[in-house]
Amino acid sequence: MALAKRTFDVVVVGAGGAGMRAALTLSHAGLKVAVLSKVFPTRSHTVAAQGGIAASLGNVNEDNWHWHMYDTVKGSDYLGDQDAIEYMCRAAPEVVYELEHFGMPFDRLDSGKIYQRPFGGHMQEYGKNPVPRACAAADRTGHALLHTLYQQNVKANTNFFVEWMALDLIRDQDGDVLGVVAMEIETSEVMILQARATLFATGGAGRIFSASTNAYINTGDGLGMAARAGIPLEDMEFFQFHPTGVHGSGVLITEGVRGEGGYLVNKDGERFMPRYAPTAKDLASRDVVSRAMATEIKEGRGCGPHGDHVMLKLDHLGDEVIRHRLPGIRDIALKFAHVDPAKAPIPVVPTAHYMMGGIPTNYHGQVVAPHGTAPEDVVQGFYAVGECACVSVHGANRLGCNSLLDLIVFGRSAARQIIEDLKNNPNPKPLPADAADRPLARLARLENQKDGERVAEVGDAMRRTMQTHCGVFRFPDLLTEGVANIREVAERVRHTEIKDKSKVFNTARVEALELDNLIEVAQATMTAAEARKESRGAHAREDYPERDDKSWLKHSLYYSEGHRLDYKPVRLKPLTVESFPLKARVY
Ligand SMILES: Cc1cc2nc3c(=O)[nH]c(=O)nc-3n(C[C@H](O)[C@H](O)[C@H](O)COP(=O)(O)OP(=O)(O)OC[C@H]3O[C@@H](n4cnc5c(N)ncnc54)[C@H](O)[C@@H]3O)c2cc1C
Repeated sequence: MALAKRTFDVVVVGAGGAGMRAALTLSHAGLKVAVLSKVFPTRSHTVAAQGGIAASLGNVNEDNWHWHMYDTVKGSDYLGDQDAIEYMCRAAPEVVYELEHFGMPFDRLDSGKIYQRPFGGHMQEYGKNPVPRACAAADRTGHALLHTLYQQNVKANTNFFVEWMALDLIRDQDGDVLGVVAMEIETSEVMILQARATLFATGGAGRIFSASTNAYINTGDGLGMAARAGIPLEDMEFFQFHPTGVHGSGVLITEGVRGEGGYLVNKDGERFMPRYAPTAKDLASRDVVSRAMATEIKEGRGCGPHGDHVMLKLDHLGDEVIRHRLPGIRDIALKFAHVDPAKAPIPVVPTAHYMMGGIPTNYHGQVVAPHGTAPEDVVQGFYAVGECACVSVHGANRLGCNSLLDLIVFGRSAARQIIEDLKNNPNPKPLPADAADRPLARLARLENQKDGERVAEVGDAMRRTMQTHCGVFRFPDLLTEGVANIREVAERVRHTEIKDKSKVFNTARVEALELDNLIEVAQATMTAAEARKESRGAHAREDYPERDDKSWLKHSLYYSEGHRLDYKPVRLKPLTVESFPLKARVY
């Protein structure tokens, strides 16, 4: 079947903070840029970010980028690549001021400077005291950021393909990436988008779990597409559980609540975090707080009739602070927990939140994969930024507010790299004859499947398997069983059926295609988690409770084909400063 084709200089898949920051620099450079998004750009998950974006501006207390770098390396449990971390922390003040100049409406201090609040794991003087480093617009920072970038892109004449879903990558025999095959959701029309550079900014995959703070569209499409095209996925065993999802609904309560002075209590009303993290207390990093909460619950000190959650107390902050600094949280507490946080505590549990792993890249946003004896060879024409990428600045555990920063820093650096690369590569390569075969075969399978299972049922089986077998604490027997179970679910995914075959806004077809991506991510996560025999950051094994730097200070790489695992070294050498030596991690 001959498909329609359009040609661009750059195709960006994803219109969250990462995709839009990159697109802006590309459009400013005069390149012809297409940005695809499954939803209207300002509905991307970045819009839901609450607490802030990290940068050592030092507007409240003294701060500097080297302390930020130390915190990020430590937060990553030493799995983060120190060259990328140095690059990010040094660039942070500049990219935040850039956002300010684009018109982003940050909250202000009395001095007129950008408002900053403390956040988990962000400390002064190499771990001494919490420092206000999160630049915030109330508790709607992502909203302010995304709308600012969207408006700037409209001004820069970026082409948006709204409600278009990329289905698969186009890769030729040399392994070069030449664009994507995509489907317009309104009409189900399939088209080839050819480009000299393809940038993935497709966001996270929190929807592999049943209890998640993520939007329904966070289905790991970029990872699924990359995995099917033979590109490995890095460090997928590290999935962050945010300590404070509203019990029962999963809606996020920002760490900014604890930054403003809120704290966690158990059923006895005890503030328990000082027992686990004497210095940082409730502002220890997320993996530490989530494990402390899970331990309180496991040991019978959980709240409620089933003892299955703890309480987040903030009534002592007073109604005025809550209304002014945390208006969105007040709304969420009223709507989803039916409590007024100025009067009563909010019931919370650790909830799947953020994927530390992703498509392997360097700090220029270029996708890298092992080739011959080289552990990191650039995949020509392919770039990835934001939550779908693994740079890796977050290593085994991300610090709050470092994701929005990652989007903006690496969105910009990837765009700059693309501009350079395209100068040396003025003409598009010819497309291979089989460019669209894989996605067309996937669509044809769905069209013709008889007596298959419903997508929703198989999706539920996947989410339950991940939730039970791959949670905050990981147990050996559950992991072994989990690998077998998730493979079975993957087999079922190959035989799902949709009854509705209509062409117009067929969300059933979209969900079936998304499940193909989710299951790639779920299998990568389970397989890599079962294999890593140590505890590091968010990966906490009951049978191997200690970090094991001798055997496991390395990044994992998962290949979809054959579920093969490979490993590559961590980049311990920063760009200009000295490496931070390995230490036990205490808060
Ligand atoms: C509730 C919540 C609160 C958070 N708060 C903070 C915070 O305060 N500070 C912080 O640093 N981090 C925070 N995070 C994390 C951070 O917001 C995310 O990691 C980040 O916004 C991801 O941005 P992104 O640009 O990579 O992807 P997203 O913003 O998720 O955007 C993904 C884009 O890709 C598009 N897309 C996906 N698949 C396809 C496809 N197949 N075809 C076409 N388009 C596709 C989507 O339509 C969307 O436009 C929060 C996360 C959540 C869930």
